[in-house]
Amino acid sequence: MKKVYCDISATTPIDDEVANLMLTIQKNVFGNPSSIHKYGQESHAIIEKSRLQIADSLGCHQEEIIFTGCGSESNNIALKGIINTDDHIISSSYEHPSVINVLRSLEKQGNSVTLIRPAADGKIDPESIKKNITKKTRMISIMLANNELGSINNINKIGNVAKENNIILHVDAVQCIGKIPINLNHLSIDMMSISAHKFYGPKGVGALFIRKGIDLNPILDGGGQELNLRPGTENIAGIAGLGLAMKKACQKLEENIEHIKSLEDRFVSLLSKNKINYILHTKDRLPGVLAIGFPEIDGQSLLIALDLKGVAVSFGSACSSGTTKASKILLDAGIDEKLAKSTLRISFGKIHTNDDIDYVADALSSIINRIKQ
Ligand code: PLP
Repeated sequence: MKKVYCDISATTPIDDEVANLMLTIQKNVFGNPSSIHKYGQESHAIIEKSRLQIADSLGCHQEEIIFTGCGSESNNIALKGIINTDDHIISSSYEHPSVINVLRSLEKQGNSVTLIRPAADGKIDPESIKKNITKKTRMISIMLANNELGSINNINKIGNVAKENNIILHVDAVQCIGKIPINLNHLSIDMMSISAHKFYGPKGVGALFIRKGIDLNPILDGGGQELNLRPGTENIAGIAGLGLAMKKACQKLEENIEHIKSLEDRFVSLLSKNKINYILHTKDRLPGVLAIGFPEIDGQSLLIALDLKGVAVSFGSACSSGTTKASKILLDAGIDEKLAKSTLRISFGKIHTNDDIDYVADALSSIINRIKQ
């Protein structure tokens, strides 16, 4: 049976070149990057090369990147590191749990939080952010693109709101690397979280961009690694993998976007040709991320039937899967509960071919037609 993995937003398979580089490093390089001798220097050089690759790809300085264990950790370091008692934070109701749950615990410690709900287009309105600013607002944390809807927020405008009001802006860009261009040189972003496993890099390694001048308190105590913000001997192979994956994602960005958009077009036109009733929830979205509703069809059952045909998709995001409830993100975006329960997230990437798309569209159409009968 053919197998097609269409859950690129949950995680990506590792790129061959990245995996080979990591294997070579795992086998041959073991020095502690903090050691002064040549073994240590060799490891240190690998880490710095990766830092440079990331800085070059994102338009920032090498010293503005720290390595972390994942996107969730980057979000934790950014949010907990900047907030003092009594500060006010503005964020959105559809952030990843690694932001929302940090905000909940900050609230318990006496901070106040305002969560803006997405508008009907799946985006956070910069004007709503502006209206909620108070004298105590210290930080705005808004994701660049949403993990379920794929909707892309206007970070340029949100950055201007933050800058005009002297507020720190943190952006969770975990879903965006290799999908849309990001140039930190042109954006008023103060901190930005990324995670390697979302762009064909390894799992268990992420990074945080911290603009020069932003002073964070460490959330973990230990050695002085990563600007004193992420103690522990570094994951050398993982960090090297992250750097190479980032370089590859950004070098071929335009080519990949074009390829993925053509796959998307092929997919929806096949569904239309097969007379499948579907609703695409987001117009202006990340390439390849489809939040797609199939009215009158139960999303969970559809997911399982597709899995039996070798097609992997998701119902909600990976972190909320396993639940039969309608996705809170879809409900927040104004989608009614029935339609939300009929909605799947199907995500395509550079790995897919026209044959894959034809297989997925056929599998989906035959399942839906069978259910209807
Ligand atoms: N932020 C967003 C928007 C995500 O989609 C995810 C992962 O799904 C994360 C953060 C967490 O990343 P990680 O799995 O590397 O902790």
